[in-house]
This record gives sequence, structure tokens and C-alpha cells, in this order.
Amino acid sequence: EDARIGLIGLGTMGAALASNIAEKGFDIAVFNRTTQVTRDFAAQAGDLAARITPTESLEDLVAAIAKPRAIILMVPAGDAVDAQIDALRPLLDDDDLIIDCGNANFQDTDRRVEAATGPFLGVGVSGGEEGARHGPSIMGGGKADLWARVEDIMTAIAAKHEGDPCAALMGPGGAGHFVKMVHNGIEYADMQMIAEVYGILRDGHGMDYDSIGDVFAEWNKGPLESYLIEISGKVAHAKDLATGAPLLSVIVDAAGQKGTGRWTVIEAQHRLAPVPAIEAAVVARNLSARLEERAKGQEVFGAAPQAFDGLDLTTLEKGLMAGKILCYAQGFEMLSAATRDFGWDLPMSRIAQIWRQGCIIRSSMLDDMASTLNAEPGVNLMFTDHFAAILRDTHGALRQVVAQAALNGHPLPALSSGLAYFDMMRTTRGTADMVQGQRDFFGLHGFVHTNGKTGQHGPWAKG
Ligand code: NDP
Repeated sequence: EDARIGLIGLGTMGAALASNIAEKGFDIAVFNRTTQVTRDFAAQAGDLAARITPTESLEDLVAAIAKPRAIILMVPAGDAVDAQIDALRPLLDDDDLIIDCGNANFQDTDRRVEAATGPFLGVGVSGGEEGARHGPSIMGGGKADLWARVEDIMTAIAAKHEGDPCAALMGPGGAGHFVKMVHNGIEYADMQMIAEVYGILRDGHGMDYDSIGDVFAEWNKGPLESYLIEISGKVAHAKDLATGAPLLSVIVDAAGQKGTGRWTVIEAQHRLAPVPAIEAAVVARNLSARLEERAKGQEVFGAAPQAFDGLDLTTLEKGLMAGKILCYAQGFEMLSAATRDFGWDLPMSRIAQIWRQGCIIRSSMLDDMASTLNAEPGVNLMFTDHFAAILRDTHGALRQVVAQAALNGHPLPALSSGLAYFDMMRTTRGTADMVQGQRDFFGLHGFVHTNGKTGQHGPWAKG
């Protein structure tokens, strides 16, 4: 009964997290639904075995942990979490803490925190298996005093950026899982924008995969330096194990998804927070999966992307930079909307800080975002001194990329929506006057007159 913490669910993430916790010097008791998995995990623990107590029943798990207990759940999000909580609670003392480290929907976490069944934290963990094993980015949600009980463990296992742990409490209730969700939405858009530029290099410039890999590797030494650019280069260079052909040439271009991008988009709509780049990225994944219809379209209209040149690599790099900044601006604005709507106080600059290492969207640009959001709190990232200067320098390139791509049949849903966001966000007199006129015409919805009067109508309202 002296383990510092317990963990349930020794799958990909749970096993990696348990090993990480043990490695950082905390005694941990573990349990898995399928007992053999627990035994295998303990058998291969090596040097860490002394800190790991494998257990084969929930009762034994609970008995192995020091009071007040803390138990991490790393099981699939949704019903499995509720079922696990229901099975565990009757075995626990009133002040024992359950911590869900899976990818829960933040509304489920809100509900579980509010439920009177006992102390609960919802913690978003990013970085995949490698991150979980050696240092993830950790976004906590729930009561501060509960977070304080495990903060030493969370900061010890988290990634470090120049010594600063990438772990923090985001706010009450589902705040941690909300921030993790937006992280994943940004991840979708960042990945999609890179894929769009890859398409121009491949089908527009006719570059081979190795040369494309070289471009990404080169960009990874500049302002675009990031984990996603780095792995894009590695993916482009990789060869198929079965045939030796370039790996990308044998991957069916139909993107999978587990839903966090979709959650981000749906939630953004509820918050009236514009995240068009993220929406475009989710739509692009959905469309990509329609292989038969796309084949039909090519049969009917001919393939869209045509070979072209006229975009040099610097223009593409700058266009991608502009797109990336606009996508992150949208993500942070969504976090601001949640702060406003939920009465949270999401620590914007701290969020950028804990995304600098450990998570999938880690990048050197996030370093600048952290200091910028600190210096100019509450300002849309695109209007901050630092990023406005970069956008002034790069939005022309983004326009070139989008224009040339459109003329040559290359679809750029995320990059072009980023450009539309940019242009709408710098236009005082847009075109919603027409929309308001139409709404008033057919529904007498009224409009605000430029003289300041509300509830005004057009001539059709008379009589
Ligand atoms: P795995 O499928 O690898 O492992 C799932 C684990 O949960 C297994 O230990 C399994 O036990 C257990 N389990 C499944 N269903 C139940 C149930 N009904 N009751 C009790 N235990 C159950 O999943 P991951 O480790 O990949 O994911 C775990 C969580 O982490 C998910 O919420 C996921 O979204 C999240 N996550 C995953 C990331 C990743 O890169 N994979 C990144 C960040 C978060 P058994 O051995 O008996 O099947």
C-alpha cells in the first residue's frame, strides 16, 4: 500500500505513461482489464520493475496505493471511462482522486467533475506513444487543490522546454480536455496545410519524393521549424517496406480521423468562433475518404491538378508561414471564446509554452507565440506586433500560392480559407450589408443603420 499512484489501462499510451512515471522515481501500481497484458508489461519492465506493482484485480490495485489515492485512467474515451469510474468508486475512499488522461470530450469531463461521486481531474496528454514514454505535453483540468496533489508527478513526466515543464492546470472542469481538443484541431489544420504544399511540389512542380523530402528538411532549419515539418520530410523520404517504392506512392490518399478535429469544429460553431482553417482540414479529410466519387469526378471532368511552375520555394515557404500563423490565430481565438463563454481564465501564453515541447504541434513558432501572447494579452495573434510584421511580409506569398494553385486546379482548402480569413479580418466594409438586406427582405429581421439606429427596415416593410 505504498505506491504513489495507480494506473488502469496498459495499452499504447497507458504502458508508456506508467513507464515514464516509474522512470521519474514514483512507485506505481498498474492494472489492465486483460491480465496477460499486465503480466507482459511487468515482465518487460527491466530496471523499472522495482517501482512497478502489477495487480490483477481492482481491489488489489486500490490496496496497493498510498492514501489519499490517485488513479490514472488510460482507456478509450467515452463509455469505457464511465464504466471504469463506476467500477472503481465503490472501492475508493471519499477523497481518492480519479484522473482521466485519455482523449475525453471536454463536456464529458465537465460532467464527471461535477458529478458528486468524488474527486476527478480530466487531463489532456499529447505527444503520442513516444511523448507519453519520454515527455508529453500535459493539459490539466479540474480543481486546483486536486491538481496540486499530483502536480509533482505531472511536471516530472512532462516534456521540458529549456527546463520548463510542459504541464499546467488550464482551468476548472473540462478546461484541460478543451485545450487538448483545440490543440488537435490546430494539428489537423497544420497537417493539411503542409499536405497542400506537398501537392503543389508533387503535381505542380513535378518533384520526386526525395526532393520533396529535401525541401521539408531544409524548411525545418528555418522559421517553419516544427515536428510536423520534420516528420513530413521523413515521410517523403521513406521507402515502402514491401516494395522499396517511395512510401507516399503506396499510401491510399484517404485520411483517417478519430474525431477530435470534428469536435473542435462543432464546438467552435457553438462558441461563434471562426476557425475556417480547421474546418477546411476536417472537410478535406472527409472528402479524401470519398475515393469512388473522386474517381467518378476525374472521369467526368478530367483530373484537376495541372503541372505548372512560377512559384519558387521561398514563395511556398512564406505562404505556408502565413497560413500557419492564421491557423494558430484562429485556434487561440477559440480558446479566448471559451474563456469568455465558460468563465474560464485559460492561460494563453502558458498554453503556447506547454505546446513548445512534447506535443505534435511543437514548433519554434510556438516559442514566439508564447512571448507574444505574454506581451500582448487579449490580442488576436495576427494583430500582435511580432506576427503582424511576419504577415505583412508573407501574405502576398500566400496570395500567390492560392492564386496559382486555383488557376492550375490544385485544391488548397486550408490555405485558401486562411487567406479569406486574413482578408475578411482586415476589411471594415465587407458584404454582410447584403446579407442583412436579404434577411430583412424575406424575414423582416431588421438591421442596424449606419446612423446607429437598430431594428431598421427596408422599404418592403411599409404597409
Ligand atoms: P489502446 O487501444 O492502445 O489501449 C486501450 C486500453 O484500454 C487497453 O489497456 C485496454 O485493455 C483498455 N480498455 C479498453 N476498453 C476498456 C474497457 N471497456 N474497460 C477497461 N479497460 C478497457 O489505446 P491508447 O493507449 O492508444 O489510448 C488510450 C487513450 O489515450 C484514448 O482515450 C486515446 O484517445 C488517448 N490518446 C491516445 C494517443 C495515441 O497516440 N495513441 C495520444 C493521446 C491520447 P485490454 O488490454 O483489456 O484491451
